[in-house]
Formats: sequence, C-alpha cells, structure tokens
Amino acid sequence: MSRVYNFSAGPSMLPEEVLKIAADEMLDYKGCGQSVMEMSHRSKEYDAIIKEAEALMRELYKIPDNYKVLFLQGGASTQFAAIPLNFMNGSGKADYVITGQWAKKAAAEAKKYGIVKEVASSADKTFSYIPKLNKDEFTKDADYFYICMNNTIYGTVYHELPDTGDVPLIADISSCFLSEPLDISKFGMVYGGAQKNVAPAGLTICIIREDLLGNARDITPTMLDYKVHADAQSLYNTPPCYTIYICKLVLEYLKRNGGLEAMKVKNEKKAKLLYDFLDNSKMFRGTVVKEDRSLMNVPFVTDSDELNAKFVAEAAKEGLVNLKGHRTVGGMRASIYNAMPYEGVEKLVNFMAEFEKNNS
Ligand SMILES: *Cc1c(COP(=O)(O)O)cnc(C)c1O
Repeated sequence: MSRVYNFSAGPSMLPEEVLKIAADEMLDYKGCGQSVMEMSHRSKEYDAIIKEAEALMRELYKIPDNYKVLFLQGGASTQFAAIPLNFMNGSGKADYVITGQWAKKAAAEAKKYGIVKEVASSADKTFSYIPKLNKDEFTKDADYFYICMNNTIYGTVYHELPDTGDVPLIADISSCFLSEPLDISKFGMVYGGAQKNVAPAGLTICIIREDLLGNARDITPTMLDYKVHADAQSLYNTPPCYTIYICKLVLEYLKRNGGLEAMKVKNEKKAKLLYDFLDNSKMFRGTVVKEDRSLMNVPFVTDSDELNAKFVAEAAKEGLVNLKGHRTVGGMRASIYNAMPYEGVEKLVNFMAEFEKNNS
C-alpha cells in the first residue's frame, strides 16, 4: 500500500494512527459486537464516546466552564445563517470583516436577517492580507463582530484579534481548528466544519458562551437554534455519530502527542520549511504578505499558467496530490493541516526545487 500526501484544503488528511485505530475497531467496538456506525446514539457506549469527545475538546482548548461545546451538522455554511438567527437579537446589527470568500458568504447570509456593516475588506488585493481595523468604524451597539480567522482559500490568518470591547467576537476557525492554542475566553463563539483539521466531513463544532444562548429569533428553525442543541447536549436528534467518534480519536491523538502547544511547534516547523523555500525561489512565490501568512494554507504561483499546470500534474505523479490552487487565486495551494507529516512538506519542497531546476 502506498499512501499519497494530500494537500487538499478539505476534506483532508487524517493522522494514520487514527485511521488504523478506526480500522481495528471497525467491526467490533471494544467488545460490544458492532461498529460505532451501527450503534444507537442513545446507547451507553455511544454516550461515552460523545462525552469523551467533549471532555477532550475542553481539555485541549482549556475551554472555560461557561461555554457550551456543540457537535452539529450542516457544515460551517449552515452557521452563516444560524449565527444571525441566534445572535442578531438586540440592535439587529453586526459587523463583518471581509477577508475572503467565506467571510463574504457569511456576511451575505447575515444581510437577510439584519443590518450588516462591512468594517474592512481586503478585496482590493485579492484578499492577500488582513486589513487594518479602525475601532472608530465599529458599530457600538452591534450584536456581534464577525471574522474568519484563517482564510483557507487565500492563506491569511489573524495573528492579532480585533479588540471589540463588550461586543461578542465570533470567529470561523474551520481551517485552523486545533492547529495551535487559542484563548476561547476572548470569543463569544468559535466554530468550524471538522473536515479540514478535526475529522471527516459531516460534523460542525460550535463553542459558544452560555449567556449568548436563549434569544434566538422566533422564526429560527429548531435545528438551527443553538439553545436546543445545548440543552440536549448535542443529542436533540441523531448526531453525526461516526464522525464524532473519529473526532474523539483525533483528540486522543493530539493529547498523546503533546496537545496544542506541540501541534503549534510542529505546524510552524512545516510552514517555515515551505515559506523559506518560496522566499528563496526564483520560480515560485507566495501570494500573501509575510506578516499575515497562515500556518495551514499556503498559496503560491509561478509567473506562467502553463508552468503551474505542469507542476500540479507532475507533483501528482510523485504522490503529492491536490496542489491546484483555488480558481480565484490560480496557481497552487498546499494545505498543510495537523495531519500532514513534516516528511510530506519536505518531499514537496524537494520536488519544487527539482522542478525549478528542470524548467528554467
Ligand atoms: C471550508 C470552509 C467553510 C465551508 O465549510 P462547509 O463545512 O463546507 O460548509 C467555511 N469557512 C471556512 C474558513 C472554510 O475553510
């Protein structure tokens, strides 16, 4: 068997040791004679799995007790509507920073429910930077302030959080979930789809400060009401059982391997290898300003569409797959999430050096 290095933005790689444990437990989960896939979500075996997943999430992120951890479905995209429905309940206003497609989509959805102010945008330079924020521009009585923390398509990340005072900060952390420590107490809510860094697709994790719950609009569909799910401990209806189980295995893997501090060190080392190469290459260059570079998603280009296409095709033959960039940026993008081994990035950089030599 030969496994490829998958640089996809998501769904993406999972740690091999997690896949092996899942394979071992596939037919008979801990002697109960069935797979987790087949189990009732009301069984005591399953109850232990979802409780353990929550406990590990709390431990790894040091989540304060006044926050709820919800395991939901619908992807990050469903939360684009759920967030205004649940939280645009005071002034009916919210501030959004437009740092890419995902923030833009979230703002567009919120506009259906209230008054959205786009307080800053980096659209002028294809979202290649995080815009400077001016506090005077912020809406004083906004119900919340929204950011997309790590911009999966464009490869930017906030290294510093906006100071929103008493206005709750809400962040989409889909593509940097569990990649490094994060002070959850600075947020009203963080959330993300699991398929980038946490588990297979099908699971969305929301971490929400308790006092924000319970004021959803009357029109809110029951399934989008966070309070309903919080009160039912994510078992209001059938949750994505198997995906939550894989999430639990990933969280155990993270804990075994030194937690989020160790993950940060590992991710910085991988990203540095790639960025250093890009900064010294005559053929390839990164598309993001240095100070806002993401550890997770690294877009890069050559000056020729033809070379870009040739690179992506030849890399795939070497087992370096899904390196094609997003259509709005062009070129290449290497997503190097938690589960991408250092060796994968090393192999990519060596291949880039060879490609540069052979094509110049
Ligand atoms: C992938 C992604 C999304 C969309 O997630 P879905 O789960 O497919 O809805 C939203 N935001 C960010 C930052 C993403 O990376």
